Amino acid sequence: MKRALGIDIGGTTIKGGALEVEGGARVAEGFVHFDKKIPASAIWGRVAGLVERLEDEAGTRFPRIGVGCAGLFDRATGEVLASANMPNLEGERLPDGVAAALGGAREVLLENDANVAAFGEQWFGAGVDVHDLVLVTLGTGVGGGVVLGDELFLGPRGNAGELGHVVVHPRPAGGPYDAPYAEELECACGSYGCG
Ligand SMILES: [Zn+2]
Repeated sequence: MKRALGIDIGGTTIKGGALEVEGGARVAEGFVHFDKKIPASAIWGRVAGLVERLEDEAGTRFPRIGVGCAGLFDRATGEVLASANMPNLEGERLPDGVAAALGGAREVLLENDANVAAFGEQWFGAGVDVHDLVLVTLGTGVGGGVVLGDELFLGPRGNAGELGHVVVHPRPAGGPYDAPYAEELECACGSYGCG
């Protein structure tokens, strides 16, 4: 039976699971904590270690690995353009890094973590039988995934649906404002007043 292996890179934990594509039965799962201050190369190593552990548990070697990660990406190159909670990933080509850490013989596919979670819900969870849905993730940060007509809504630059960074409290235009209050509204993404 066909199986798939997916990895989720969050702000504090790398999680992974392997499952039967038909029916979704889990055949392996696990996680590894990491310090977001470690260099990207060390993060690739943690991901590769988890993949290999899950493969041993599942008794399957996967030629393609799916990775969900918080952040904004260049879809052509896999470069992490922005990651509010994992700044060490910025400027790094995540699929290339993970593939190299796995010895170079696998294909690594990258998608925003909330986007793949939205597909997961449509595949096996709350979104079964619907073609349009919005998913909100509440993890280290707030993420969002938007599925319209069974397709991800990506927007013109491929990174739409970042609901956690929609500005809901705009910076006051002109005039002084309360400094501590303003500081609290500075987001790690560099914007101000994010949701
Ligand atoms: Zn933000």
